Amino acid sequence: MAQVILVTGGAGFIGSALIRYLITETDDSVVNIDCLTYASNMDGLVEVIDSPRYHFIEANICDRAEINVALKRFQPDVIMHLAAESHVDRSINGADEFIQTNIVGTFTLLEACRDYYSALQGEKRQGFRFHHISTDEVYGDLEHGELFTEGSAYKPSSPYSATKAAADHIVRAWHRTYALPILISNCSNNYGPFQHIEKLIPQTINNALAGKPIPIYGNGLQIRDWLYVEDHVTALYTVLRKGRVGETYNIGANCEKRNIDVVNIICEQLEELAGNNPNSLKMSKGQIGFKSLIVYVEDRAGHDIRYAIDSSKLQRELSWKPTETFESGLRKTLQWYFIESNRV
Ligand code: NAD
Repeated sequence: MAQVILVTGGAGFIGSALIRYLITETDDSVVNIDCLTYASNMDGLVEVIDSPRYHFIEANICDRAEINVALKRFQPDVIMHLAAESHVDRSINGADEFIQTNIVGTFTLLEACRDYYSALQGEKRQGFRFHHISTDEVYGDLEHGELFTEGSAYKPSSPYSATKAAADHIVRAWHRTYALPILISNCSNNYGPFQHIEKLIPQTINNALAGKPIPIYGNGLQIRDWLYVEDHVTALYTVLRKGRVGETYNIGANCEKRNIDVVNIICEQLEELAGNNPNSLKMSKGQIGFKSLIVYVEDRAGHDIRYAIDSSKLQRELSWKPTETFESGLRKTLQWYFIESNRV
């Protein structure tokens, strides 16, 4: 049955991919609440902006009055909460906005939803869900061989992950204390179209294409577990539709890579693409051999060594599977950058 889904942070990297999916692949309607910070990119929504099933409200999740108005006006069936300050480096340089949006904003949204939920009746009340979208970074880092499970202890390292951990705890408390029907998902590192330039993969691609140095933190041996953003989106929709109330689901694709290997694979795929499309790359011939652009820079403070997520609960209980390998997802991502960079 088609639903009205209120998405927060829908102008961001993952939120916009989610909304593109909801509008093009389902009959659901979407209300997107986003205050359009530097991290937002409305280009990711061009495809859906004219749909009568898409509505946008420019508002801050910390603004209770605005949230109340949106809930009253659109009467959503479910909430998917993605709005967050999400860039670790920025959280190290100044955590204020992270505390505000990720903790106070989540609390404000929960309180507004609690009021809204208390007035719901019948099927609408039974079907209501507050889905909080979180990160595997709440678990901190890992020794070799271990995986994060839903039962792993919280051990966040950065101001970003600490605020996301706080939000997870608050959401769980609203379930336990007030019986708000919540779902939580914790996902590994995403990549794909429309990701903000500050993140490892877009930065590497953009710098390579521009012939600029490609920075790598420390020795580049830190390990991240990668997931193509469209696989994250189908996982989120699966959790929303089939997840058990009060449960947490880890999302990932068993795709551990060292940062230096990620950068090397990007360079290799770019060279291959450049060979196939000699006129479509904005670079001089002298720049072919992207690996020569790699420079090692001072490591990030408190940098986690390894993340690796066990998503077997989601795969086993809700029958979700990723469709992309790192190589195929990266190829799609690079193709998208090629098209975008030629459009400019
Ligand atoms: P993003 O930074 O690209 O987008 C965040 C969006 O939230 C932006 O459009 C921004 O304008 C909006 N926003 C920020 N503060 C707001 C506020 N106070 N009120 C309303 N809107 C606000 O983030 P993303 O990468 O798309 O991540 C989305 C969610 O998924 C986040 O909660 C993040 O913690 C989580 N997550 C991200 C990843 C990843 O690899 N990117 C992995 C796991 C989980």
